[in-house]
Amino acid sequence: MNLPPRPLLVLLAAGLLAGCNQVPVTGRRAMSLVDDKEVTKMSVAMFDDMKRRQRPSRDKDRIAQLQRVGERIAKVVFWDMPDADWEFVVFDNPQINAFAMAGGKVGVYSGLFKVAKTDDQVAAVIAHEIAHVTAKHVHEKLSQQLAVDTVGTVGMIGLGASGAPAISTVMLGNAYGLGTGIGALAFDRKKELEADYIGLMYMARAGYDPQAAVQVMEALETETAGAPAQAAWFSTHPSHPERVLRLLDAMPKAQQERAQSAAARGPNIVK
Ligand SMILES: [Zn+2]
Repeated sequence: MNLPPRPLLVLLAAGLLAGCNQVPVTGRRAMSLVDDKEVTKMSVAMFDDMKRRQRPSRDKDRIAQLQRVGERIAKVVFWDMPDADWEFVVFDNPQINAFAMAGGKVGVYSGLFKVAKTDDQVAAVIAHEIAHVTAKHVHEKLSQQLAVDTVGTVGMIGLGASGAPAISTVMLGNAYGLGTGIGALAFDRKKELEADYIGLMYMARAGYDPQAAVQVMEALETETAGAPAQAAWFSTHPSHPERVLRLLDAMPKAQQERAQSAAARGPNIVK
């Protein structure tokens, strides 16, 4: 019997395994060829490695602030990441940057506090980063890449132990935007806008003022003298004005979510 060429076989195997992720909040369905558990395991190992290699901050106030804000956001995303083992780390690094990884690993560079000072503003950044994780943007990015590589390149892709296409640490690091280039785009325009929207709803549900998301964008623009794309946390696509306009569009809905969650929590909640 004539076997189809290897890339096709892999694609067929991957197709059988291909799952569909449903993005929380927006409900969008996205292809997934990668093994969820494998991505989490590798992400946790990558975060541990970063903790070993990078200098932790000693700023007690900022460490406490990130913990306080992170825990509140983690609560509202519980059902989107029920197995997360949350960890919030401030790294001593002047870059304006923050990231979140599968498994509930969140890193913030001390430079970020130049543009996110209040709890609401820090919540805006953290919620955006966590939205990338709950939306499984890294899984989607890897899957798109695997689909292209599998069709285009003979024998490049192997299968991992789970039967899903094997992914390397380098691929995963690049998908997170943790590669060499500072300011390298982590995600495309659509995914950034989606994370902005989902993050806005998350922060509002956690009781934070969603207007702070706009304040962070504006502070970033001021800090980087009108070239926010130079900051690692910021991406050049979509443009700054487009992100702000989309946030403002979603603001009434976010305020509604905030009011509803406050009502659900009852009057005795301590802010
Ligand atoms: Zn983003």
